[in-house]
Order: sequence, then C-alpha cells, then structure tokens
Amino acid sequence: MNSANQIWEPARSPAVVHFMPTIQCHCGAVKVSVEGAPVAQFYCHCNHCQRVHGAAYVPVSMYRAEQVKVLTGEPSMWRLHATPRATCRDCGTRIFAEPPGFGMRGVMAMLLPEGSFEPQFHIQCQHALLPVKDDLPHFKGFPGAFGGSNDVIDW
Ligand SMILES: [Zn+2]
Ligand SMILES: [Zn+2]
Repeated sequence: MNSANQIWEPARSPAVVHFMPTIQCHCGAVKVSVEGAPVAQFYCHCNHCQRVHGAAYVPVSMYRAEQVKVLTGEPSMWRLHATPRATCRDCGTRIFAEPPGFGMRGVMAMLLPEGSFEPQFHIQCQHALLPVKDDLPHFKGFPGAFGGSNDVIDW
C-alpha cells in the first residue's frame, strides 16, 4: 500500500513547514488561520476548479480540516456538485475547498505568503486544457494516497 511519502517528497523548506499565518480574501472581510505544514501542495486541473476559478488550473495547499480555521467573517460555502468552496460574499475570493469525505481543506495557494507554495505534483490532468511541462508527476486523476489510480499522463 502506498503512503504519501512513497509517492512524492514531503514539503521540507522552513517557509512551508513552519508557516502559521492568517490569510485573507482580497477585501479583508474573511480571515482564515492556517496552522502547520500542509499535507500536500499541488496543481489541480479538474473541470470543477476550471469552472469555479475561470482558470486552466489552480494551485492548492491541502491541510487537515482542523489546521484551517475561519477567524473573521462568514464565507459562503457554495457548492459546485458535492464540494463546498468557501468564498467571500463581498469580493468573491475563493479561499478554500472542502472535498467531502476526506477531512481536508484545500487552500487556494495564491493566498499564501510568497515562498510557501512548493508544488509536489499535478492532479486531474485528464481535464487539463493545456499540458504543463515540468519535472513534477502529472497524475491523470488522483495519486494513490488520495484514493486514486496513481496513473500518470505522458507529458
Ligand atoms: Zn472579501
Ligand atoms: Zn480541482
């Protein structure tokens, strides 16, 4: 059975491991604390993220749900299909998504301070609008540690 560490290298740099800031939406109405090291950091190419963000893919920093706490404001937990996505009611910033059944919250990594996003792989490349050619693994769906097939795309 695969563990996370057998599939990708855990994030190691001090900026990532000791990160404990408050992040906020663009207007400042919603403030969220993010405590400790992420479980994983990756780019998601899924067709839901594409629609919600109006983007080809999004950078995600995934944490256990209890590491991510809303401190101020009351974000909308609007859902596309099953996944609630915490969104500021005023400025529309997507702050985190909470895929059901995992106990995880995926924070939109563009909200983190510079230097604290160190992507380890790409997921859902089967939906990619364009190939992103880099040295990271490109999973067709999800890696094994996320309950996926571990299949990769040949970019
Ligand atoms: Zn806002
Ligand atoms: Zn996605």
